[in-house]
Amino acid sequence: MSVLIKDGWIVTQNSKREILRGDVFIEDGRIVEIGKIRTEADFVLNAKDKIVMPGLINAHTHVGMSDLRGLADDVPLDDFLQRMWKLEENRGREEIYQGAKLGIEEMLLTGTTSFVDMYYYEDAVAKASKELGIRAYLGWAVVDEELTTQEGSPLQNAENFIREYRGEELIVPLIAPHAVYSCSEETLLKAKDIAERYRTIITMHIAETRREVYDHRKKYGMRPVEWLEKIDFLNEKLLGVHLVWLTLHEVKILASHGVKASHNPTSNMKLGNGGSMPLVEMLQNDVTITLGTDSTVSNNNLDMFEVMKIAAILHKNERWDPSVTTAQMILDFATINAAKAIGLNAGSIEEGKLADIIVVNPRPNGLPLRKDTIVSNIVYALNGLNVEHTIVNGRLVASEGKIVKD
Ligand SMILES: [Zn+2]
Repeated sequence: MSVLIKDGWIVTQNSKREILRGDVFIEDGRIVEIGKIRTEADFVLNAKDKIVMPGLINAHTHVGMSDLRGLADDVPLDDFLQRMWKLEENRGREEIYQGAKLGIEEMLLTGTTSFVDMYYYEDAVAKASKELGIRAYLGWAVVDEELTTQEGSPLQNAENFIREYRGEELIVPLIAPHAVYSCSEETLLKAKDIAERYRTIITMHIAETRREVYDHRKKYGMRPVEWLEKIDFLNEKLLGVHLVWLTLHEVKILASHGVKASHNPTSNMKLGNGGSMPLVEMLQNDVTITLGTDSTVSNNNLDMFEVMKIAAILHKNERWDPSVTTAQMILDFATINAAKAIGLNAGSIEEGKLADIIVVNPRPNGLPLRKDTIVSNIVYALNGLNVEHTIVNGRLVASEGKIVKD
């Protein structure tokens, strides 16, 4: 199967961050050629006056909750979690599958081609992902056995899930310990062991609220990241989520172990966490930053364009300095950096890369298209509804506001 995207403004995100005018030829799921292409293709997309760019990577979701949107607004994280855990007691695979379908459709329609999820019954999320054709990094959530609403042992369930789904083309199964307040040292080390045995990444909420940090210090005499280092949990395969309440010492610890960061500014602000990831210090210490929406219950949408803008303007405002974030830096977080963090050969439009590409119609607010303002317009002016076509692994999966069925 070949696809030719014709005559677009290509935001390559290659090492030179080139913006090119021309065509992109895709064959068997990969980008084969970029330029003026005369080869015939099975399918042609006209991208005249449109932006052709890498699909966005959402580095933190709980997509199976997408049917719960609006059910825990305007309450602090503790109340939020109590409400969710109560709801989750009565949620089985069917509810999670239906929730995941809603969320994945939203992601595809708003330009997300890959996502990193954390939830239980990820097999139901895998089913929805495969039906809709998105690239899914599915982290089976793990908490201590006495806290779980899952049937059976969360660790065993996670391992079974990884064993069953590894090797699938678009599904990458992994393990996702929930947080330091829901996982003991023993649970965390067993989760890390599973990740190492199956060579997967591992993702976990870390230092989301001040309360988490204070409670942890009371219980263990250390802040979460210091403690995670002490128990030998940190490594380059860890994608830490939130990382809001950190000291500079903790930032340096994360950097020294090569831990990757998923920044979820909208969720943090909506839950009133009262702080934000120390992005400037993270960048100064070369931590790889990615962006995530978090669930639709704490965001309340899955539009990565919106997250890009909020991430950019939040730090400008906090630091009284509009230069601390740039549009290019933010677009990197959502594309090439995220691909690096999850070990995916995508995130840029280059020959040989996987064909995860979106075509964006900049009408009305991103016009006129100009090389020197196109990235600015993507981050500050456009949103997910500007996305016209979404291609995952060389296949058109969403087009003109509709999911494409086989
Ligand atoms: Zn989360």
